[in-house]
Amino acid sequence: MRAFACDNCRSLIFFENDRCFTCGHEQGYDRSVGALVSLDHTSLERCANADLIGCNWLTKSGGLCECCLLTRTRPADTDLAGMAAWRLTEAAKRRLAYQLDHLKLPTTPRTEDPEKGLAFDLLSSAQQNVITGHADGVITIDLAEGDDPHREAMRVKLAEPYRTMLGHLRHEIGHWYWQVLVDDTPFIDRFRDLFGDDRESYSDALQEHYGKPDDNSWADTHVSHYAAAHPWEDWAETFAHYLHIRDTTETASWYGLRVDGPSLDLAVSWDAEIRVDPVEDVENFDELARSWIALKLVLNQLNRSMGKDDLYPFTLTPAVLDKLRFVHVVVTSHR
Ligand SMILES: [Zn+2]
Ligand SMILES: [Zn+2]
Ligand SMILES: [Zn+2]
Repeated sequence: MRAFACDNCRSLIFFENDRCFTCGHEQGYDRSVGALVSLDHTSLERCANADLIGCNWLTKSGGLCECCLLTRTRPADTDLAGMAAWRLTEAAKRRLAYQLDHLKLPTTPRTEDPEKGLAFDLLSSAQQNVITGHADGVITIDLAEGDDPHREAMRVKLAEPYRTMLGHLRHEIGHWYWQVLVDDTPFIDRFRDLFGDDRESYSDALQEHYGKPDDNSWADTHVSHYAAAHPWEDWAETFAHYLHIRDTTETASWYGLRVDGPSLDLAVSWDAEIRVDPVEDVENFDELARSWIALKLVLNQLNRSMGKDDLYPFTLTPAVLDKLRFVHVVVTSHR
């Protein structure tokens, strides 16, 4: 995520802000320019969800913004727990949408393409049985995942090192991009070389995955245990990691973070600088990977200094890096 400056007083403001805390000007996110703008410097209006869930995006129409419009189903106003989780989910979804725009990935809404377009059903499992997942462009999110105790309990139960709402969104939209950018394209053969044959039964694969204990046999070849369940899940997990890495590296770059490393004789190649150009996307995956590996080592140490778990508790083996490189090629060659 880039660092934004107030267009009135040039103070630092953040993607989530709806006003500048220095000069007090009201701010909103203008998707067409990818920046926050002062409301008195634009003809755009606040999204109709601004008061309800704190959406800070702007719209021409005075209705819902383009990010909120992607949500097809949301909780009823009377479902207070659902409404609180919806607010958090939409905040994560705006961050996702910003990044997809930044990477110039398509976000065709289902209202434009009723067969394959993108839509979000944000449902509360307190009211009904909800399974987070993706089906032909429709992403279903269990809003109970917006509740910290529930999500943490699920994380522990599934023995996952990392579980966030943003992570769910990045994973599920990865499934959609597989359909849009990989399936039935010249990329499919290379995909099958790297990730395996997606035509093997998905339901059998999942049953097998959940039926046997984790013996860590996936660790050299997959970014997570769940990635080893089926090639589709491997792609979605790898795609989500690609978005984690791109966003975090971009943020570090915008704030001028440098990683010089300790002057020890370690088998680590430190980068002196997080050399990801914040405006022009990197075309060179190896440079991105090198920057990230240096950066994530430091970020993990910083978290430990605060008594927290590692920020990025994953190991990127050569096989996983090959898969990430493939995602990078698919994403960048889409443009
Ligand atoms: Zn200001
Ligand atoms: Zn909105
Ligand atoms: Zn999945």
